[in-house]
Amino acid sequence: MNEYDYDLFVVGAGSGGVRAARVASELGAAVAIGEIDRMGGTCVNVGCIPKKLFVYGSHFAYDLNDARGYGWSTQPSFDWATLKENKDREIARLNGIYESLLTRAGVDVMRGRVRLLDSHTVEIGDLQRSAKRILIATGGKAIVPDIPGRHHASTSNAVFSLEELPKRMMIVGAGYIALELGSMLCALGVEVTLIHRGEEILRGFDHDLRCHLHAELEAKGMRIVLETQVTEIRKTDSAFEARLDSGVLLETDFPLFAIGREPNVEGLGLQELGVELGQRGGVVVDDDYSSSVPSIHAVGDVIDHIQLTPVAVAEGMHFAHHFYGRGEHRIDYASIPTAVFCQPELATVGLTEREAWHRCQDVRVYKSVFTPLKLALSERKEHTIVKLVVDASNDRVLGCHMAGHGAAEIIQGLAVAIKAGATKAQFDATVGIHPTAAEEFVTLR
Ligand code: FAD
Ligand code: NDP
Repeated sequence: MNEYDYDLFVVGAGSGGVRAARVASELGAAVAIGEIDRMGGTCVNVGCIPKKLFVYGSHFAYDLNDARGYGWSTQPSFDWATLKENKDREIARLNGIYESLLTRAGVDVMRGRVRLLDSHTVEIGDLQRSAKRILIATGGKAIVPDIPGRHHASTSNAVFSLEELPKRMMIVGAGYIALELGSMLCALGVEVTLIHRGEEILRGFDHDLRCHLHAELEAKGMRIVLETQVTEIRKTDSAFEARLDSGVLLETDFPLFAIGREPNVEGLGLQELGVELGQRGGVVVDDDYSSSVPSIHAVGDVIDHIQLTPVAVAEGMHFAHHFYGRGEHRIDYASIPTAVFCQPELATVGLTEREAWHRCQDVRVYKSVFTPLKLALSERKEHTIVKLVVDASNDRVLGCHMAGHGAAEIIQGLAVAIKAGATKAQFDATVGIHPTAAEEFVTLR
């Protein structure tokens, strides 16, 4: 008889947890999953999916204007409530799909907050269940700084349940979330002021693209204040007042902090069981996602590595195949493509120019800034930038970067070429598709 109720108990039904549970169950393991909130985790409920729907929705503000140049007469009007309601309906549909994917794969789905009682036992609501292995896939949560008035600050979660749009929004941070939500709201007519502590937005991305995007965002009406911190938030009669370290008082209707996300380990009881946690609370794991306690594992944002859905999914899949299948190649974390869905969109794979200079003796850089053909007949003044970074010693393309319409779709394809070790000569030998923005990548000389 089995010593435990389950072979595997997964804590958290987000991107990583759902994939690990499904695959392990399909490989023959007895699996249960515990979830305190809605099925699908951050990505489905308050992340990638509703964000992208909002981004699509807001983009019509530009598209409808562009249409005039093509002969269309339009009298656009926008209703936030319709967009939000339709988004909510789609997310509810996805919640159901996630649940049925799990149950159809034979996973027991349990509702409630999970806490670990010992290295093989969890408590969920009034129930206790034992498992040979426990997988922590509890994701992350937004950080709010410890400043006076922090309780007035909202995080990205609040944007997805806004009943109406604020007139003025202050967003602290200049990373993925700040730029995506800031762009989206700016397009919908909200006066967005971005407050960033650094000297340029999007630290870690290629310098040319950071500067390019900064100018494009300002051209769309976003106000960007650099090298500035918010030191206090106060409630006034009708709004909020943020005190900046420059001494300025900024009045806003909605103060939003998008300053990073930290691992979600609160209340799990991991420390009491001797699970080693990193400086920010992330579960420390080895290459197969085992923690310092052999029966406890972790994948996804909770390990505090790369916070992206496809990464959490790949980790969940590797974990399941490693312990319940015939093993699988370890995840190659090099050259993971990524996109910031701001407007214009930015996407990148591989090394920035600066990173390349740190690794190589000599680097060749190719770039082009142009007006996309689609905008030739519109009044929108938006430019696209494409850039290739090449190792001069062997001609290998080390990095592809783009900011402009369709960047994410284009860079996803080029990521395959980078993974395959393509050279600049092979890019040059590739015939373009004309007329497209993507063809720029094979015509850069
Ligand atoms: P999560 O998806 O966060 O799932 C964790 C689950 O665990 C949650 O459902 C939670 O309720 C549950 N849980 C936590 N504690 C407990 C407990 N004690 N008991 C029971 N259940 C518990 N990534 C992209 O790749 N592309 C994007 O476009 C993108 N956009 C994003 C936009 C926003 C606004 C945000 C916030 C994130 C975005 N991300 C994006 C990041 C992506 O959402 C995360 O990397 C991904 O969801 C991580 O998956 P996960 O499985 O580790 O955790
Ligand atoms: P990011 O790490 O992308 O950006 C955080 C921003 O906040 C940076 O500009 C950072 O500045 C600033 N910051 C950090 N700490 C402080 C502080 N104490 N005071 C003031 N500013 C501070 O985090 P996000 O919250 O935007 O997103 C979290 C993660 O979610 C992302 O890293 C990404 O992995 C994932 N995500 C992915 C998306 C996608 O794939 N499209 C979309 C949204 C989120 P500095 O540069 O100086 O550190």
